[in-house]
Amino acid sequence: MRYPFVPLGALAGAAVLASGCSTGPSPAAGERHAAASPAAVSAVPAKAPAEVGANELGQVPVLMYHQLTEKPASVYDRTPADFRAELERLARENYVPVTARDFQTGRIDIPAGTHPVVLTFDDSTNSQVRLNPDGTPAPDTAVAILTETAKKYPQFKPVATFFVNAEAFSATGSAKALTWLKEHGHEVANHTGGHENLSSLDQEGAMRAISAGQQAIEKAAPGTQVTSLALPFGAMPSPAGVATRGTGYRYDGVYLVGANPSVSPFAKAFTPGAIPRIRSAGPEDEDAEFGSSRWLDKLAAGKTRYVSDGDPNTVAFPSASRNELSPALAKRARPY
Ligand SMILES: [Zn+2]
Repeated sequence: MRYPFVPLGALAGAAVLASGCSTGPSPAAGERHAAASPAAVSAVPAKAPAEVGANELGQVPVLMYHQLTEKPASVYDRTPADFRAELERLARENYVPVTARDFQTGRIDIPAGTHPVVLTFDDSTNSQVRLNPDGTPAPDTAVAILTETAKKYPQFKPVATFFVNAEAFSATGSAKALTWLKEHGHEVANHTGGHENLSSLDQEGAMRAISAGQQAIEKAAPGTQVTSLALPFGAMPSPAGVATRGTGYRYDGVYLVGANPSVSPFAKAFTPGAIPRIRSAGPEDEDAEFGSSRWLDKLAAGKTRYVSDGDPNTVAFPSASRNELSPALAKRARPY
């Protein structure tokens, strides 16, 4: 279920896709975040985009997680403490999670001056979602740590995208686990039925593997709208269009494995069929230069990061970036 890490730049146009999923806040969490909701924010006098340095054509980190374990065995593993520390760093640095679905469709509804981050989880491991008999998340699972972080930092929304395979979250059972994720506002998304390497299959075979993942989700949690795919091993099928559309599925975001922030979904250069992700990694881990710690350092130090203007209906940016805007969004543009 793991893939060799390949920096996106080394892919030479081939496909390194990964998966992601998004979740949403629980009813309780939604209540807790009411003060930060758009409706509540709109009661406060809006700040001018320049005042908060709005840059809605800026870069967005889409972070990729696999397994949380006390004893990491590969670069894809992180300890629960590492994960907690990374979420708390994001919260302190004014990042607000949005699901992959909301990101790829440009529904980025976060307070003025904050930055979107997309948290994605691959392979549906039990360390991500495991429920106690009473239905609460087990200690040190990703969903438990997300919820705890949001309690400590009320602006931080506990929503993520879970890219799952068939027989997801075996300790809890896929029906129960996927339903819990949906009810708590997370996104459930596809990572194929059996984690097939799509580049090794013919067109029919790749379509079958993607369809199998879609059907497994629909069977476990009927009514789920699956709109995102992460490619196992980051491997793109041929032709690439098979990842986006086939019998029984249609995705508006397809996710890679490496190795840099995405451009804004409002930018001309945005590539919904091949969205890059950043592997979660400490500052001294293997290939750290492509990992999350170093990338978050770079985004904090530079001026390329996405900064929200607080109004989900407009796209605000310094007028010098005007040429980067997708032409389809000209009417929503607020250059300053
Ligand atoms: Zn995977």
